[in-house]
Amino acid sequence: MSTPSQRLKKTLPVPYTEHLPDIVRRNVGRWIDRRFHGAGIVEHISDTGDRLFTVKVGGTPNVRFSTETLRKFADIADRDGAHSLRFTRSGQVEIFATDLEGALRVKAEVEKIGFYVGGWGNTLWSIGSCTAYLTCTTAVIDAPSLTKVLYDHLVPYFTGEVALPSKLRINVGGCPTGCGGLVADIVLVGHYGAAPGFDPERIRLCLPTRADVLDTVVPEVQMVCPVNAIRSFAKADGSVGIEILEKKCIGCGRCKDVCDHITWDPEKTGVAVLVGGKSSNTGVGPTLARVVVPWIPARPPEFREAVAVVRKIIDVWRADAKPGERVADYLARVGIESLFDALHVPMTRWNRPTDLDTGFGVRQFLPR
Ligand code: SF4
Ligand code: SF4
Repeated sequence: MSTPSQRLKKTLPVPYTEHLPDIVRRNVGRWIDRRFHGAGIVEHISDTGDRLFTVKVGGTPNVRFSTETLRKFADIADRDGAHSLRFTRSGQVEIFATDLEGALRVKAEVEKIGFYVGGWGNTLWSIGSCTAYLTCTTAVIDAPSLTKVLYDHLVPYFTGEVALPSKLRINVGGCPTGCGGLVADIVLVGHYGAAPGFDPERIRLCLPTRADVLDTVVPEVQMVCPVNAIRSFAKADGSVGIEILEKKCIGCGRCKDVCDHITWDPEKTGVAVLVGGKSSNTGVGPTLARVVVPWIPARPPEFREAVAVVRKIIDVWRADAKPGERVADYLARVGIESLFDALHVPMTRWNRPTDLDTGFGVRQFLPR
């Protein structure tokens, strides 16, 4: 157990530096330059003369690897690399090498076991996915499966075989909670497509038995709603009733998770598609993604409709964006309305752009 003074000196409870690769430990604070060697390989240059080559490998949806695959990566890193690797926050695997020849051998070996190398520069950097069904109780769609299908269709953009105007990030979330992240060029969010209904008799099993407790008790099914779309009230016979406010509901399904007598039409389950999010402070600065397609079906295993919309958005952006223009910067220049036209999506209250200024970057703190 570390003492407060050790903790102040950043002595972490785990022997942190022991786990760092030698070359990283030797060069703390010494990295001064970098060089790109085509899609997927970057050289980092230290003033000590050391070189570190990063080979970026497209990971699995939601970073789910079998231990067997992890051993294969570790074997490749030991045999051809610098005995080390890391996982990026968006789920890619970066394997390190100490020279370009080693990096090229690493690339060849990971490709042999079915992975792709890419995701640097003007390419598809990542498709981030929330966990959905594996560990989450509120999933509406199987986000990692949709992510896998998108990867299959978009591989040439990841490897750099087909050029993009700029970097592209895609995120997929299994429900409107949005753990997949709403800050990406294209975001897909699963939702139920409509407000739920409920069995008028059986719903009582999910509610307090007497309405006189409503002054002090909020029914769980009401409490979990993130947008206050469920209202409870006293009925004439002294029991508790609920009302679901359709216009407020975002179809997240949390009420369904706590009460089996909330009902859904599975045919309406789908995804919303949002565009123009980015955390980078370039161009128009950081932005949140905005809804363009409020609902399309989510039909596994092929998710054809969702894939078609994503491909169309990329096609429009590729054809029209200036070099270096992220989707958000492109839309700021041409107007998001042009994307509605290209996608043949009507503008409704569910996707109408607002005047909300989503710029929240460091730029606002700089002297004007
Ligand atoms: S976005 Fe929804 S489905 Fe995905 S992990 Fe979060 S709560 Fe679960
Ligand atoms: S919990 Fe979600 S699905 Fe249920 S009423 Fe509220 S917003 Fe709608």
